[in-house]
Amino acid sequence: MLLIECPYCGKRPELEFGHGGQAHVARAKNPADLSAQEWADFLYMRSNIKGVHAERWRHTHGCGRFFNALRDTTTDHFLATYKSGEPQPAVAAGAVGDGGGAAGAPDDGGRDGGAGTGSTSGDRGGAGGGSAEAPAGGAQVRP
Ligand SMILES: [Zn+2]
Repeated sequence: MLLIECPYCGKRPELEFGHGGQAHVARAKNPADLSAQEWADFLYMRSNIKGVHAERWRHTHGCGRFFNALRDTTTDHFLATYKSGEPQPAVAAGAVGDGGGAAGAPDDGGRDGGAGTGSTSGDRGGAGGGSAEAPAGGAQVRP
C-alpha cells in the first residue's frame, strides 16, 4: 500500500487521504478587478503536468488538515510533503532514486523490444531460427 507522509502525523496509508487539486493557486486580492476570462481561468483552468506536480492533499481520515505535496504523476511517487503556507521545496525532476530510473528503464526496453521484433520477423522469414528470439522479444514488449 502506498504510504503518504502527512507533515503533521507522519506516514499513513493512502486510503486516509483525499486529493485536493493543484497547489499554489492564489486567489486574486481583488476579484472584482478580474475580467470574466481571468476569473474563469482562476476557477477552472489547472495544469495537467506529466512529471512533478504540486498538489493539495487532505489527511481526511486522520488529522483532517490540508497540506501540499510534490508528486510525480508518471510514477505516483511522493517526492515531498510540506505544510500549507510553507514554500515549495526544491526537488529535481529525477530526484527519486528508487523510482525515477527504474521507471525509465522498462520504457527503453519496450522501445528496443519493438524495434527488435521488427528485425526478428525479417530474420524468421529468411532463416526460420527466430523461435529462440521470440520469447525474449515478447518479454520486452510486456511493459
Ligand atoms: Zn495528518
